[in-house]
Amino acid sequence: MQDKLTLMIPGPTPVPETVLLALGRHPIGHRSADFQKIVKRTTEQLQWLHQTSNDVLVLTGSGTAAMEAGIINFLSKGDKVLCGDNGKFGERWVKVAQAYGLDVQVIKAEWGQPLDPEAFRAALEADTAKAIKAVILTHSETSTGVINDLETIARHVRAHGTALTIADCVTSLGATNVPMDAWGLDVVGSGSQKGYMMPPGLAFVAVSDKAWEAYKHADLPKFYLDLGKYRKSAKADSNPFTPAINLYFALEASLEIMQKEGLEAIFSRHARHRAAAQAGMKAIGLPLYAAEGHGSPAITAVAPEGIDAEALRKAVKDRFDILLAGGQDHLKGKVFRIGHLGFVCDRDVLTAVAAIEATLQGLGLHKGTTGAGVAAAAAALSQ
Ligand SMILES: *Cc1c(COP(=O)(O)O)cnc(C)c1O
Repeated sequence: MQDKLTLMIPGPTPVPETVLLALGRHPIGHRSADFQKIVKRTTEQLQWLHQTSNDVLVLTGSGTAAMEAGIINFLSKGDKVLCGDNGKFGERWVKVAQAYGLDVQVIKAEWGQPLDPEAFRAALEADTAKAIKAVILTHSETSTGVINDLETIARHVRAHGTALTIADCVTSLGATNVPMDAWGLDVVGSGSQKGYMMPPGLAFVAVSDKAWEAYKHADLPKFYLDLGKYRKSAKADSNPFTPAINLYFALEASLEIMQKEGLEAIFSRHARHRAAAQAGMKAIGLPLYAAEGHGSPAITAVAPEGIDAEALRKAVKDRFDILLAGGQDHLKGKVFRIGHLGFVCDRDVLTAVAAIEATLQGLGLHKGTTGAGVAAAAAALSQ
């Protein structure tokens, strides 16, 4: 049905009408006092979201630009880095690091499993020469729906003393607690089309003082993504290049909505939606892909045994106008993913569970008691 499609993918995520309307204005000059006010205000809002007093810089680009900037600004050619890889995004940061000539040691976990913090501790403790300059990892691994224990891994990195923690928080920020300062994270990357409830186009990089120290002698090539330029401009509430002005209007509006809701309420809403999605799927006999207890609050990956996940996903879209995400790489056809990130309410999750259940029924694949998924999700939502 026209205009009815509901996105339940982990980005782009649904956008509130207030935010959409904020976009629909004439651009203003980016060197004007009016725009400076917006930069100043959104910077404060971003610091609130990141729970930090560090710089939070805004780039034009997607989340990958944030992470590429986060990697290339604080490292030098040949530097040793540890990369956590338990999915598609972990894999991507390995590729970025290799593309820039870093000496990459990969710490892997099976897809669906979380990274093992002990493996990081062991590698960092063994590095008495302090050759490891950074640990790069993904907090919420969107491809598998697994949340990694960033807090513990960052603690091991701090104990090492030299290395920086460079974290992809693209689907954790705005969904679960990511207190940058309390956890001692050095670089936090994110993108607007995820927890920010915005269209794609803005990338965010938060940077600690320790990372700025490393910046001074980092020699990887950079120009457009040179964060020093952004930092200098940000001090004057400005940007080094023409920013995505209308997306800034949207950013101000979306962060205002988030501030009204409050961080605790946002986090508990995502936790509740994870519980409902998980309970709903289990109740209709669809196994979860992420290891028990390690599911991301932003996304639930489901591995329906003996069912073509792509056919199910397509039927849900055709019949109910709900877009679920498919599996990536070797998971294509084996896994579908329910995004419950950002502008998602209880109704959306309950409807998605009901739609999946009804679709299974329509395909003659529903195994359990009729309505069991909805009942389980509803019970989880009222916890
Ligand atoms: C979406 C996403 C990104 C960024 O991808 P872009 O397409 O560049 O925005 C990075 N990491 C994770 C975990 C993501 O989900």
